[in-house]
Amino acid sequence: MKFDTIIIGGGLSGLSAGISLVKAGQRVAVVSAGQSSLHFNSGSFELMGYDENHRPVENPLEAMKGLDEEHPYRRMGLDNVARLAPQVAPMLADAGVRMRGTAARNHWRLSPMGVMKTAWLTVEDHIALDSPDSFPWKKAAIINITGLLDFFPRFLETGLRKRGMECSLAEVTCNEIAEQRVSATEMRATNIARVLQGKALESLAAEIRQAAGDAEVIFFPSAAGLESMKNADILRELAGRPFYFIPTMSTSVSGVRCQMTLQKYFRRIGGYYMIGDVVSKGNFDGNRLLSVETRNFASDRLSADNFIFAAGSFYSHGMVATPSAIVEPVLGLDTEYRGSRPEWYNEDIFKKQPYMKFGIATDADFRAIRDGKTTENIYVAGSSLPGADSVNEGSGAGVAALTALHIAEKIK
Ligand SMILES: Cc1cc2nc3c(=O)[nH]c(=O)nc-3n(C[C@H](O)[C@H](O)[C@H](O)COP(=O)(O)OP(=O)(O)OC[C@H]3O[C@@H](n4cnc5c(N)ncnc54)[C@H](O)[C@@H]3O)c2cc1C
Repeated sequence: MKFDTIIIGGGLSGLSAGISLVKAGQRVAVVSAGQSSLHFNSGSFELMGYDENHRPVENPLEAMKGLDEEHPYRRMGLDNVARLAPQVAPMLADAGVRMRGTAARNHWRLSPMGVMKTAWLTVEDHIALDSPDSFPWKKAAIINITGLLDFFPRFLETGLRKRGMECSLAEVTCNEIAEQRVSATEMRATNIARVLQGKALESLAAEIRQAAGDAEVIFFPSAAGLESMKNADILRELAGRPFYFIPTMSTSVSGVRCQMTLQKYFRRIGGYYMIGDVVSKGNFDGNRLLSVETRNFASDRLSADNFIFAAGSFYSHGMVATPSAIVEPVLGLDTEYRGSRPEWYNEDIFKKQPYMKFGIATDADFRAIRDGKTTENIYVAGSSLPGADSVNEGSGAGVAALTALHIAEKIK
């Protein structure tokens, strides 16, 4: 099978590039092995949340000027970052995920631990404030689902009380959830979101209204609206007062929804999404990648003019740490890392981890390097790239989406 572009990895980065290229008229295939890091997304996308000393950043675009030259934002050019960042929320909205926020000013989101964190874009049904203390309410009801494994209201309560909010705690359920509870392992937010529809939403909302008493605002675990925002919207409407979902600690409903809606959108506009397939080998002619083999298409090679490597970092096995080296396991691309194994990580897990900045080596145009030579047609996007510490600087989704859009522009 022949495509204009084949993308290895279908997380935020692969899908952003894929959508942009299909819209430009290309025939594009995304091959994606499995879950992406979107499945654990907090409901917020980060662009540049914290400076070198972990102080919150107010203006991400301004703060990027202080980044090292090796950082993906500096390498793609800050003017390109500023130009492409406003395209991300509309792309998500077209897919069916409504997010708010701007690249010119971070807002504050509420974590499941009750801590306020900076964010670039936050899904519309989660809370987003101008400053960490600008809650417009004094009295909140934190309402949990009886038996839910992924949500810890006491942490949230402690955090909100520190910010001067009076909190009441309550639990609710409905028949559909109670049936699910027969098997305690089913009590995950994503499983509950599958049964929360139609009548179940109405009966749960009635319980919520009663449990909330005279609270001005309701905080509820993000456990509704898995395939689209529709059921989440209905529950919020039925709650009859300000109602916000709080991200849960395990697989995230809003993250899975984002992944699913982007996938569906990519297919709807004409892209090929090969889900659950794994690129296992590349066939090269010198520095040019001609085709890839996958587990499902072993005998039928997938060829393309260009390839984007968006297989993620260690978490998604885009890169692998062996005892003596960091390797890219599929195409044999060169990697960028420093030192020997003991120098890759800090034993204090709360300190900066050197391995966070490791990635696939590229030239200035994000073309991968293999055996010391620049490849002609393999581009690297997203968290596979070196130079960003997404945890400490809060830049994960920004690097993923914006490097992908930048590369798509290059190969359109
Ligand atoms: C657990 C977790 C939570 C995070 N939460 C947030 C958050 O809340 N906000 C934020 O801004 N950032 C967050 N991040 C940072 C995150 O890295 C980025 O936000 C971004 O989603 C990364 O996207 P990506 O497409 O580069 O990589 P990934 O999301 O890792 O996607 C890579 C994809 O490639 C596939 N793949 C790998 N190898 C192959 C192969 N050989 N063949 C085919 N497919 C392959 C994988 O299965 C996966 O689907 C989080 C990261 C992690 C690990």
